[in-house]
Amino acid sequence: MTTSNTCIFCSLPATSLIDENELAFAVRDIFPVNPGHTLLIPKRHVSSCFELTDEETLALMQLLRRAKEAIDAEFKPDDYNIGVNNGPLAGQTVPHVHIHVMPRYRGDVDDI
Ligand code: 5GP
Ligand code: ZN
Repeated sequence: MTTSNTCIFCSLPATSLIDENELAFAVRDIFPVNPGHTLLIPKRHVSSCFELTDEETLALMQLLRRAKEAIDAEFKPDDYNIGVNNGPLAGQTVPHVHIHVMPRYRGDVDDI
C-alpha cells in the first residue's frame, strides 16, 4: 500500500477512524463546515480522484452509504453536499484525495 510520510491523511491515528473497509476509511473533518462533516479517504496515497482504481471507487461509495446512515441517525440533516476538490486550483489543500460529505440543515448558510 502506497503511503506518504509527510501526508496528514496517511498519518491519521487509527483511533480517529469512524469507519473503514479494506481500501478506504472515514474520519470527521477537523474543521467541520457543519455538524457531521465527514471525509472519505482511500488508504492508498494518491492525490487525484482520477488515479483511483475501480475497486477503490467502489470502496469509497460503500463507505458513503454507511456514512449517510450514521450521520442521519446522529445529526438528522436535511440534505447533503458531497464533493471532491481535485487539484490546488480547485481548492484541494490536502494532496491525498478525499470526498467531503457535508450535511446540510435547513437555514444554514448556502456558501460552503
Ligand atoms: P480540501 O481543502 O483538501 O478539499 O479539504 C481538506 C480537509 O481536510 C479540510 O476540510 C480540513 O478541515 C481537513 N483536515 C485538515 N487536516 C486535518 C486533520 O488533521 N484531520 C482531519 N480529520 N481533517 C483534516
Ligand atoms: Zn496520503
